Amino acid sequence: MQKATAIIAAGGAGLRMGTSTPKQFSELLGVPILIHTIRAFYQIPAIEAIIVVAPAEHREHTQALLTQYQLDDRCTVVIGGTLRQDSVRIGLARVPDDSPLVAVHDGARPLIIPKDIQRCLDAAAHTGGAILAVPVKDTLKAVAADTAIRHTVKRDGLWQAQTPQAVRTDLLKEAFAKADQDGFVGTDEASLLEHGGWPVVVVEGSETNLKITRPDDLLMAEAILMKQQPPPHMRIGHGFDAHRLVAGRALILGGMEIPHELGLLGHSDADVLTHALCDAILGAIGAGDIGRHFPDSDPQYKGISSIKLLRHVIGLAAENHFRLCNGDITVVAQRPKLAPHFPAMQTILAEACRVEPEAINLKASTTEQMGYTGREEGISAHAVVLMASQPA
Ligand code: MG
Repeated sequence: MQKATAIIAAGGAGLRMGTSTPKQFSELLGVPILIHTIRAFYQIPAIEAIIVVAPAEHREHTQALLTQYQLDDRCTVVIGGTLRQDSVRIGLARVPDDSPLVAVHDGARPLIIPKDIQRCLDAAAHTGGAILAVPVKDTLKAVAADTAIRHTVKRDGLWQAQTPQAVRTDLLKEAFAKADQDGFVGTDEASLLEHGGWPVVVVEGSETNLKITRPDDLLMAEAILMKQQPPPHMRIGHGFDAHRLVAGRALILGGMEIPHELGLLGHSDADVLTHALCDAILGAIGAGDIGRHFPDSDPQYKGISSIKLLRHVIGLAAENHFRLCNGDITVVAQRPKLAPHFPAMQTILAEACRVEPEAINLKASTTEQMGYTGREEGISAHAVVLMASQPA
């Protein structure tokens, strides 16, 4: 297995996407296209370095994304040129001397199958140059400017070129030198080799290796990606909590102070509603309960806002690759009336849980004067949540 360097051309202006965001930054299932692309190359052990060529105005954002997705250990961002050929030339100049192979890839082909990258590299190691391509399936028409068909193009032996295009590093450098000398401009790397008379072979790739240039492509890519991804694991969790009502304490529920003559007693702010929600989330991810994470005996939690604890619990879930789908919480209190405060609580809880407010449902119930809640000795809360695993 020969070592290789990938050059990712991430220079698209995204004009055909009809958005102001360049296409490489458009999101596919919540992750930027460019990140999907780079992750595929990360799966190939032979690829020790990845050079991302980006326009000057997007350099900083590209670098920030690589850091955010923890891809900056093998990736370098360099500023590209006007034409693709210029950008690849700049990238090629940065390829380490001990890298016998280079694979050039479009940043906007996020569905590249890692195994196909390796097949392409293997073929290039053998022949000097190899590109992924697919045979043309449709009937091809040569069309005049007035939309009239001139003739049908014979499709025998016609292939659609894709990327990666893998070439022996020394050969690609020679091909660039020859093209520069002759003033030849090609639309891909293979054409530079063809221009110099060097052989290049095709490796049959997959139709799913789409180049995302139009909004429709994004829809198709998303559908393909969803099929490829394992379905999320769903987990449910349940939480229950109760606190005693006493004089001289503020009544805090769902992160809000509620006007009332009594308040809940506890080591923290005693926000029983938020505690039940925290316990449900911890339950769903199999992480015990709130007492284990924030012990009563620890002075750092004295009087602490339970919303802070909730944020911590959601952070813990995220570390375990779980996100909240929805939560349903019932507060059991004889008094005061809570329903008028629910919209504001929903906003606070949703923000802490990193979800839309609709994902948090709040309900209140009395026990018709029965039991400790009915006698207004305390308030209790029940919560259930559904959590879904998310890709790392
Ligand atoms: Mg509690």
